[in-house]
Amino acid sequence: MTNKQVRQKYEAYVLPNYSKAGIAFVRGSGSWLWDADGNKYLDFFPGWGVNGLGHCHPKVVSAIRDQAGKLLHVSNNYDHPWQGALAEKISKSSFGGLVFFSNSGAEAIEASIKLARKWGNNEGRYEIIAMKNSFHGRTLAAVSATGQTKYQEGFTPLVEGFLHVPFNDLGGVERAITGKTVAVLVEPIQGEGGIHVATKEFLQGLRKLCDQRRLLLILDEVQTGMGRTGKMFCYQHYGIKPDVMTLAKSLGGGVPIGAMVVDQKLNNVLVPGTHATTFGGGPLVTRAGLAVFDVIQKGKLAQRAARMGNYLRKRLERMAMKYLVIHEIRGKGLMVGVELVQSGKEIVAECLKRKLLINCTQEKVLRIMPALTVTPAELDQGLEILEGVLAVT
Ligand SMILES: *Cc1c(COP(=O)(O)O)cnc(C)c1O
Repeated sequence: MTNKQVRQKYEAYVLPNYSKAGIAFVRGSGSWLWDADGNKYLDFFPGWGVNGLGHCHPKVVSAIRDQAGKLLHVSNNYDHPWQGALAEKISKSSFGGLVFFSNSGAEAIEASIKLARKWGNNEGRYEIIAMKNSFHGRTLAAVSATGQTKYQEGFTPLVEGFLHVPFNDLGGVERAITGKTVAVLVEPIQGEGGIHVATKEFLQGLRKLCDQRRLLLILDEVQTGMGRTGKMFCYQHYGIKPDVMTLAKSLGGGVPIGAMVVDQKLNNVLVPGTHATTFGGGPLVTRAGLAVFDVIQKGKLAQRAARMGNYLRKRLERMAMKYLVIHEIRGKGLMVGVELVQSGKEIVAECLKRKLLINCTQEKVLRIMPALTVTPAELDQGLEILEGVLAVT
């Protein structure tokens, strides 16, 4: 089978809601991918952040293999050994909260919106202050929470009760609070929004504000979580704790799993009958999540992400002095944005031709998020390709 043959089946039978590169991948290992035509690619944006440990990490693969032969699914009316075990890992490595498992980031956000509304319901509070330029997923409530009209156009009426204020503007949040406000929802680093990092003043100020005004602080760590930024969770850079945190993407090392982590004080909000999911927290995906935790913790991959991120940043900053097309470099750990003075679309396309996968978001921001297991030699290789492209841009 070739890339082209695979594409033909898609065109005939799959809903065309994605923009496509015309490449079909058939195998992956670490930071490397192979397509149906036998080409090999270096992946600096593995699975939009899902493959945090790279492709097919052997520890994750063997956990999935073992689990697939034991038990694939039981309903959430029964227990199985792995859901509680993964919840314990998440809880103990964050703020000691309780976990609800979903199947995706958007569903974790949905759960957090329902939790906040249920919590504020007796007092008639339901408004959530979210950020401009944010991204929280594509379900109707998540897209309503998202602060970008391009994702909302054509889907009105949106879910009501969301206000959007500029990111990193504490005064803006304060001014938006009304008697109906129940929560503040924010990404510690806006990912899809172009790798904008929250300032210390902002997140610490939000924590104080939420305490003073009795609001829930909900941190969306779907993209920033699991070691990506140099700490297990990005909020840990800031000396604060959220009331609610959402996770997904790299939590399962490649299988679909999301989670909402909730402070213990909110343990009586989502009681039986209020919220549920059929697939959430099943044996297969939670086993995978346990393997992911094990690999990150034993391999000290968060610290590694910080080191590799510094190396990546230094090299990019040297490039920025040479190539005027680079406007600014932002990020933390292995979550890096390179803002250009022009569109990045052609650069991404040219990198792809030279067998390097990167992403471009918000038209001008190259997003580079290599696997936490990336080696310095692989970083060098990818950066040489990128530099070669910038040199002819
Ligand atoms: C990707 C993403 C989501 C949505 O996750 P899905 O699994 O695609 O539903 C939500 N929030 C953030 C910050 C994300 O990066």
